[in-house]
Amino acid sequence: ILLAACSDAPPETSPTRIQGETFGTFYQVSVANDLADEQKDTLRSQLEAELDRVDRQMSTYREDSDLNRLNSAETGEWVALPDPVIELLALSRTISEATDGAFDITVGGLVNLWSFGPEARPREKPSDEALQQRLEQVGFQQLDVDQDAGRARRLSDIYADLSAIAKGHAVDRLAMLLEEAGYEAYLVNIGGDLLANGRKRSGEPWRIGIELPRDGEQVARHALPLLNMSLATSGDYRNYFEVDGQRYSHTIDPRDGRPVQHTLASVSVFHPENTMADALATAFMVMGTEDTLTYARKNEIPVLVIERSRGDFRTRISPALREMLAGEDVERLLTD
Ligand code: ADP
Repeated sequence: ILLAACSDAPPETSPTRIQGETFGTFYQVSVANDLADEQKDTLRSQLEAELDRVDRQMSTYREDSDLNRLNSAETGEWVALPDPVIELLALSRTISEATDGAFDITVGGLVNLWSFGPEARPREKPSDEALQQRLEQVGFQQLDVDQDAGRARRLSDIYADLSAIAKGHAVDRLAMLLEEAGYEAYLVNIGGDLLANGRKRSGEPWRIGIELPRDGEQVARHALPLLNMSLATSGDYRNYFEVDGQRYSHTIDPRDGRPVQHTLASVSVFHPENTMADALATAFMVMGTEDTLTYARKNEIPVLVIERSRGDFRTRISPALREMLAGEDVERLLTD
């Protein structure tokens, strides 16, 4: 399990850090510039206003969000939506096609059924009938997006859930906000999804700390450079419940409607856009270790996977990540 991916910016090289809470987790933004209190306050309110906009557009937990306006509209009825929502819906479909349906935002009904969504449900295994019924409501092809007109409609009774991609999207939006405000060197972190641009004032790239569990209680810590790059992690360890020793995690396989069950404990994806990194990380959790590494090799995506192996954990990386980490002690990362 990747225990943590966190920003690792010592105060002397990163004088300004802004942090707070968002989407049921934390956000943290570091900029290399030295900011006066007033500038810092202005930046904080800009960042929080942007996070609030994302929440009002994408959240399934807000009845009045744009996404839930779509979810509660009659089937067949067009719903006008803000550009970012339209773009994410269209991109989600592209990723569904590219991953053979492993990523599918229409699993929302099942996410709710398995008690990982806004429906207040007990944390227990649902009945086979309920599962079958919700499985019939899954299918990314059932969401019709008209990008030119800025509208979308449900062709059948699907429930769209952007949770697997919205956090990454928010990271990209904060980065864009920082760019527009004239910042060139910064590190954005929302709940462990990170994006770094430029370098710290020392000239060093930003480094992010990752912690890998090793036999039992031991944890290995590594600080990896992140240069004009982002990172997102999905795992089966943060959001799950257990019944009779069986672990049910919040990643649902859209093909059988059940929480994924395999040896893959976590997957971290590096991509220039955090939106993509976030979505791919979820798709890879569904695909499992071997298919993930094959996909990453073929598409040259830097990926780090942690699998459970005989009571211990094993770290593996794709060739593109090995290349990206040239100059770092990769062997230690893999064997620590
Ligand atoms: P986290 O919120 O811990 O960063 P992820 O980015 O991996 O986690 O997103 C997990 C969420 O994505 C789940 O809680 C659920 O809402 C949604 N989800 C679960 N399975 C899928 C899937 N196969 N495709 C798309 N979204 C999914």
